[in-house]
Amino acid sequence: MIEKLNTIKEQAFDEISGSQDMASLEKIKIKFLGKKGELTSVLRGMGQLSSEERPKVGKLANEVRDSIQAFLDEKIFDLKQRAAEDRLKEERLDVTLPGYKMGVGTIHPISLVLNEIREIFGGLGYSVAEGPEIESDYYNFEALNLPKDHPARDMQDSFYITPEVLLRTHTSPVQVRVMEKVAPKVPVRIIAPGKVYRRDDDATHSPMFHQVEGLLIDREVTLGDLKGTLLAFAKAMFGERVEIRLRPSYFPFTEPSAEVDISCVMCHGSGCRVCSGTGWLEILGSGMVHPRVLEMSGYDPEKVRGFAFGMGVERIAMLKYGINDLRLFFDNDIRFLKQFK
Ligand SMILES: [Zn+2]
Repeated sequence: MIEKLNTIKEQAFDEISGSQDMASLEKIKIKFLGKKGELTSVLRGMGQLSSEERPKVGKLANEVRDSIQAFLDEKIFDLKQRAAEDRLKEERLDVTLPGYKMGVGTIHPISLVLNEIREIFGGLGYSVAEGPEIESDYYNFEALNLPKDHPARDMQDSFYITPEVLLRTHTSPVQVRVMEKVAPKVPVRIIAPGKVYRRDDDATHSPMFHQVEGLLIDREVTLGDLKGTLLAFAKAMFGERVEIRLRPSYFPFTEPSAEVDISCVMCHGSGCRVCSGTGWLEILGSGMVHPRVLEMSGYDPEKVRGFAFGMGVERIAMLKYGINDLRLFFDNDIRFLKQFK
């Protein structure tokens, strides 16, 4: 029996040494140490042994079982170690591989045009002023010579929050806020870019859009200065070939008032579909600041004069880039937006 146990041990060690994977080690374990394994069957026969032999054989059987188990554990540990090393070798980081490309966004066409407007007027000595989008009735209408019963208020269908507070319908209130702060000092040269809100929504109107207001106040200011300034702007924005014309118009906060057209950027004045055959495109409203507005903001209309203008940024962008639907600016369609760089 002792011989048999030694043979089992030798055989088990041989098989364990020769095995190369976990599956065969598992089989070896069952074969030698399992309930129906070889060692168990030897132990079952111990009942036939003499009382002298039994403890010796029992002791040896335990030693054989323990040493087989220990050798198995060692082998399993080795296999796992080797597998881990192999995986590390395979998964080693290759720092020479090209990296993942990050998507880079583009600047929105409205922002592009706003930046350009800031740059052009910056070159003419204008600084940028800002005002609140939630505005009081006083600054949005009253201080701009639009008293409560003024018929021109119907021209601007507004979003009211309370009877005295609304989303500003134009950037003109910034004029008043700046004048109140600076008066009676001159000169004042500001542009006020920003969002404005009106109750309109179709292919050419959006309930939110962008305007840039311009204001200049000084001792000697004429309509000729206004025209020269706007011509310089139009040429910088749309190219040297562009001409402008002023058409008499009406705004409560300027007197006289003028709509400003540029010669058509598509046909250069000969007439096409974009300009409805007229050769001209309307781009902004302007005029000499109304004496009443100057007075309400703290200036003496006998001593200073000024001009003001206001333009729709979407309108400028549509003409500059040949965009035919205003809603494209707000649809967030990446195919449209990525064309602008
Ligand atoms: Zn045209």
